Formats: sequence, structure tokens, C-alpha cells
Amino acid sequence: MTKFKALGLNKALLDAVADLGFETPSEVQEKTIPKLLQEETDLVALAQTGTGKTAAFGFPLIQKIESESRTTQGLILSPTRELCLQITNELQQYAKYVKGLNIVAIYGGASIVEQSKQIKRGAQIIVATPGRMKDMIGRGMINITKIDYCILDEADEMLNMGFYEDIKDILSNTPKEKSTWLFSATMPKEVSTIAKKFMHNPYEVTVGAKNAGVDTVQHEYYVVGGRDRYEALKRLADANPGIFSVVFCRTKRDTQRVAEKLIGDGYNAGALHGDLSQNQRDLVMNSFRKKQIQMLVATDVAARGIDVDDISHVINYQLPDEIETYTHRSGRTGRAGKSGISMVIITRSELRKIKTIENIIKQKFEAKKIPTGIEICEIQLYHLASKIRNTEINEAVDNYLPAIHDVLEGLDREELIKKIISVEFTRFYAYYSRVKDLNTSASSDRGDSSRPSRKGDVASNGSVRYFINVGEKDGYDWMSLKDFLRDTVNIGKDDLFRVDVKDSFSFFNTEAEFKDRILNTFQDFKVDGRFVNVEISKSPEGGGRRSKDKGRRRTKDKGKGNFKERSFSKSGSKRTGKRRSKKRDGFY
Ligand code: ADP
Ligand code: MG
Repeated sequence: MTKFKALGLNKALLDAVADLGFETPSEVQEKTIPKLLQEETDLVALAQTGTGKTAAFGFPLIQKIESESRTTQGLILSPTRELCLQITNELQQYAKYVKGLNIVAIYGGASIVEQSKQIKRGAQIIVATPGRMKDMIGRGMINITKIDYCILDEADEMLNMGFYEDIKDILSNTPKEKSTWLFSATMPKEVSTIAKKFMHNPYEVTVGAKNAGVDTVQHEYYVVGGRDRYEALKRLADANPGIFSVVFCRTKRDTQRVAEKLIGDGYNAGALHGDLSQNQRDLVMNSFRKKQIQMLVATDVAARGIDVDDISHVINYQLPDEIETYTHRSGRTGRAGKSGISMVIITRSELRKIKTIENIIKQKFEAKKIPTGIEICEIQLYHLASKIRNTEINEAVDNYLPAIHDVLEGLDREELIKKIISVEFTRFYAYYSRVKDLNTSASSDRGDSSRPSRKGDVASNGSVRYFINVGEKDGYDWMSLKDFLRDTVNIGKDDLFRVDVKDSFSFFNTEAEFKDRILNTFQDFKVDGRFVNVEISKSPEGGGRRSKDKGRRRTKDKGKGNFKERSFSKSGSKRTGKRRSKKRDGFY
């Protein structure tokens, strides 16, 4: 607090700082705020992502603006809509005790008329993306001829995105005698060109080494076979149960595909890329901020400037085309003094890129191994145990305690613990106790270890065919059955093939590695009180007829909801008394 006071901030801002819980100014804030408050000067500040640049320009700007006047006095340009909204939101928090100060966000993909109305009501500060700004100036909706301050935030990224011409146009509409403050993480040629062209003898501030990665970030790489990328990603996620991450892919298509696969496999994931509507992007970002999404799969452009703190991991599903982009990616974690990990999933042939990156970020990578199935099981087990330990007791449980005691009667502590853990753990274990090793040795010639560690009794092509006692009569077609299996077994859609739905039963295939997981999942698996059963098919082609000895019928006297005998009969589904709807709502 007193430290912020020493920078020269007024009471309104100090009160806001107190509310925000900021204790000490960051380096870039310390170096810029007093200078900007005392002098009218141009400024170039170089500082990494997460170093508090918004407040570095936001505090002095807010303090210098005349809130009694309705004239637009400050313009902030930022590369993306997300960033634009973040800055606006941040500035509004800083200015909460400043009466009459309006900060308005201007960005594409939203109603220009609505934004124009907001401007008309009087906006002393405008935060804008260059494209929309230029558009609105062109339509006479905005007047920036009287601004005193122009801020270019994330200048390197704006130029990366090709906004040079737009910025030039916008600046030509501003008065000569304003102050221009430029903030950037890096100083490529284009940025210094802008600085030379539009600024007069700027005061320069550099925080930390130029172009250096933030040293609160640990860099790791994992060498795998090209086809194992996705599996490796899953394991990295499973080996880090509390993960809150951004997963970077190279293309929009890969981004969408990886996100869909993750969702299909039961992860809290979401996609963020340019082919989504603004509305979809907002929804995803909101869920991510609320941590309802643990894995945000994003393209570089869409993720630019995302200011979400606490991101624990950045995962490079693929390395970026431009090695410099790596700095932007890894800068999403390790923010605001917290530590973070940047992971790279890489194939052997790409390994030399690691060296190049090390030279740029001036930090060493650690070569790590994708955790084995058993390691992941252990991690999950301990995570589960500590989750139970740390769970706050819900008092409402008290009401049901007598009944629960009745149900759990006779179980001792030991048994109870084992059972509680098994509730969640068994499925994990069934999968991970048998998976292959994904690590490709960095030195071997043919390091692709894409062979299951145990084959078991499987066909020579490595795939297993199963029988399942549900079919068309239960409302399935091959697509919906695939969905059901995917969701129930927690398996990728692509891992299920040759799904063949018959009258009251069906067949499907998976790779051998999923065999135990499938069989375990359907051990005593009931839907609507009826057992859904899966067995290894004895007929490799699944040709529509079951061998006779499998055709035992359930007997009625066993009673609904307690069938101990497995049913494979065609009439099985009829006996449950009702057909499931196409939506299979009973299954969830
Ligand atoms: P940058 O623009 O440099 O990437 P931001 O301005 O977005 O960084 O700040 C990153 C995070 O750090 C934000 O959540 C911000 O609220 C927080 N922050 C900024 N200054 C401080 C400070 N002095 N103390 C604690 N947190 C801060
Ligand atoms: Mg910023």
C-alpha cells in the first residue's frame, strides 16, 4: 500500500489497489508509474506477459484523465477482443472510486450501433481493437482528435497480426501533441519502426532481459511417436489431476479435433479458435475463467493476451511454426509471481527445435518421460485420498446418516476406505494398468514403441471384437451405440470401430489395449435395473448370430433390478418392459 503511495497514486486509486489486494508494485509499475504521473512523455516499455503492464499504464492514465469532462482523452489499442475486454474490466476495477469515469470497449463481432451509443454517452477512455476502431472512425462514430494519451498494448502482437496499416490510420486521426505509450513483450523490428515513426524521444523501460522467458516457468519436453501425441496429452493431464491449462495446437482443425476428443474422453475441455462465433468464444472463455474448463485447447491467435492467472500448465501439443511464438505460449503460465510449467510434446525429428528455443528463452529444457500407467494410477490414488480428506462435509448428509449407516452396516473402516477409493479408482486402474509405454528414446534409431505392453489373447491384427446385449430394439443405431460406449467406457470415439448393431445385440471392436477396460466397465453394469453385458466375441466377424449356449434366458422370478444371470436373448430387452428412447436418457 505505502509502496503504491510512494509511486504518487491518489486516494481513489490507492483504495482500489487495496481492494484488489495488490501489495507491492511490480517492476514495470515501479519504473513507469512515477515517470508517467510526473511528466508528459512518450514511453516504450518492454516487459513479459504477466508483469502487470495494464496497471503500469492504467494507473497513471486514470489519474490524469479529467473525469468531469466527457471528451475522449485516452485511447488504448490492443490486439484481440478478449484482451480488449480484459483491459476494460481491469481498468474499471482500478477506477471504481473515480466518479463519472466511463471506460468503453470497442471490438469486432458485437453490435457497432450499441458501441456507438456507449461512446455517445461520453467515454473518457476507449479500449479498442484496431479493426473496429478504424471502422468506427470511418463512420464518424468516434472522435479521437482531442485525446491526450494513446496506448499501444501488446504492440508486438498487434503487428504480428497485421494491424500496422490500421494503427497508422488511427494514429493519423489523433493530435500531434499527445503522449504515446507503447507496451510490448518483445522488440522486433516492426515495433521499433513504430516507435521511431510515431514517438518523440520516448522514455525507455526494460524489465528483465529482452526476449527472455519468464523464469517462473519450468520448461519440459516429452519425446513420443507422432501418432501418440493425443495419448501423451491425456496422460500428462491424468498425471496432473489439478491441471488448469492451455493446450496449443497449430491449426484450427487440430484445435477443434483435440478438444472434441478430450471432451469425448471425459475431460473438462473446450476449444478456442477463429472459426468459432464470438458468442461461442465468450462462452468458452467464461467457463475457463470459472475453471469449469480445465483444458483450454487453443490456437495461437485466439489465445493471444489471454489474461487468466493460475494457469498451471501450458501444453504445446505441437510446436508453433514460428519458434518465437513459443515465448508467447509459455508466458500464459507463471504469471503474477506464480510458478508454471510449459510442456512440449515432440517427436524425435523435431528435437533440434528445442535447442533453438533454449537459445531464445535463455533457459534449459528438462527432458521428461511420459508417466507410465502405474505411475498415473498412483498419482490418481493419492489425489483421490487427499481429495476425500480435504472435502468439506456437507451438513445435509446428516439427515440421511441413519439410513446410510443401515446400508453400510457391518463394513469396518478398512473395507469402507477400500470401497470408497474403488468407486472412482477402478475405472482408472482398469485402463492404466495395461497401457503401453509412450516414450520414444531420443537416441535410438527406430524409437517408435507403439506396441501394447501385453497382448493377452488377442487376434493377430491386435484388435478385439466384443458382443454386447443391446441393439436396435433398445433404440440404438451404430452412431448412438458408439456414443454410449464412448461415454460409458471413457474411450475415444476413434478407438471404437466396426460397430455393428443387430436386433437386440451388437458387436464392436477395439484395440487390444482397451480390452480389460471394456470388460471391467461392464462388470455388473446395470441400466434401468437391467444388466448390460459385454463379452469377447467368439465369432470374429460378428456375423449376426450368437452361439446357442449363450442364449440363456433370464427367468422372471429373479425380479426386476436384480438380474444375476446375464441375458443374451433377443427378447431380453422386451422383458425390461419398456423400450429405451432414442435419447437413451435412462443411461445417464
Ligand atoms: P501483462 O499485461 O503484463 O501481461 P497484467 O497487467 O495483465 O499483465 O497483469 C497480470 C495479473 O497480475 C493481473 O491479474 C493483475 O491483476 C495482476 N497484478 C498486476 N499488478 C499487480 C501487483 N502489483 N500485485 C499483484 N498482482 C498484480
Ligand atoms: Mg497485458
